[in-house]
Amino acid sequence: MKYLYCLIFILAFGGLTAQSTYIHCGKLVDTQSGTISEQKTIVVQGNKITQVRDGFFATKRADDVVIDLSDKTVMPGLIDMHIHIEGETNPNRYLETFTLNDADVAYNAAEIAERTLMAGFTTVRDLGGSGVNVALRDAIARGKVKGPRVFTAEKAIGTTGGHADPTNGRNRELMGDPGPKEGVINGVDDARKAVRQRYKNGADWIKITATGGVLSVAKSGQNPQFTQEEVDEIVRTAKEYGMKVAAHAHGIEGMKRAIRAGVTTIEHGSLMDKETAALMKQYGTYLVPTISAGRYVADKAKEPGYYPAIIVPKALEIGSKIQNMYAMAYEEGVNIAFGTDAGVFPHGQNGKEFGYMVEAGMPAMATLQSATITNAKLLDMETSLGQIKEGFLADIIAVEDDPTRTIDTMENVVFVMKHGVVYKD
Ligand SMILES: [Zn+2]
Repeated sequence: MKYLYCLIFILAFGGLTAQSTYIHCGKLVDTQSGTISEQKTIVVQGNKITQVRDGFFATKRADDVVIDLSDKTVMPGLIDMHIHIEGETNPNRYLETFTLNDADVAYNAAEIAERTLMAGFTTVRDLGGSGVNVALRDAIARGKVKGPRVFTAEKAIGTTGGHADPTNGRNRELMGDPGPKEGVINGVDDARKAVRQRYKNGADWIKITATGGVLSVAKSGQNPQFTQEEVDEIVRTAKEYGMKVAAHAHGIEGMKRAIRAGVTTIEHGSLMDKETAALMKQYGTYLVPTISAGRYVADKAKEPGYYPAIIVPKALEIGSKIQNMYAMAYEEGVNIAFGTDAGVFPHGQNGKEFGYMVEAGMPAMATLQSATITNAKLLDMETSLGQIKEGFLADIIAVEDDPTRTIDTMENVVFVMKHGVVYKD
């Protein structure tokens, strides 16, 4: 009998005996309802949020921790749906493919990962690199490297001479003839093989370059680069392997083919018109606007010698259009998923995107929701990420001010907890 009482006691109070962290929040953003409440306490045990209570609450237990954010605004960890974690813009970017080894890329990427986490982005979708991204994702998950939770597309899939052809602009000897193994396809058989190869290499998502791009050494920044059959096959195969597809697209025709094929997200969408916006609504496709990247390349193109000459006119033409297109798409009711294309501009400045989105007409709270609940849903993590709620993973950040009053505060994240571990306080 005594033993039974003991057992009941352990079952009933066992949860309370674990070490707890009590986070006192001056303001707390509820991303689900789109409201902000005052004076709340988040209780964290291990890697989970176990309670959200009214007022500032804490026990007097010696091993419990109280984190005082009573003069800050607290919200769920942010999610960026478009970054390139392996590298970042610099005037020697195009030489680096010849000078860096994978180990160099990996050390650079580890620093980038930490910078991204410190900026409040506790989860990211990496949309294309060389394969170091897969190793980095796993190293972060094992706790060997400080960084956000990573979902990666490994190597982007393109066509010969297309935006994701890794040998564009090289001399004939170095150009070679990359194929589906390297993510370059021509025809439906290649399309299938390239997706299966990404699966084998450890990708979580598939990224395709449905149209020309700004920063590739190639003339067109907007032409369609897959046939309808090719992109259909990519999406069909990806689905069979449990992966979703993200499509880089600036021009309309390539964008439409990708939407009709059933991709989940359109990246950039720079030259989108109302008809294409309507097609996106019809198919439930999400736009990842990357306004930060558009503005950055349009600015940098004015700096002599920063980009190769073939890129400058594309950057000026396309980069400057993204913010206005985004304003139109939002107005038309297209689903918006927060994403910046960090790497095209310096990592860690991802938070600027919030200000650009607000400038283009989206309410501040809606921008926060796109970077939390919307993105969590696209990553199939909506029951564990994107909200501060009992049972969710303890990804929690804080900023100085109320972002619905001062959106620039999102550029200065002062507290970061990921998976229950404090990284910045
Ligand atoms: Zn990108």
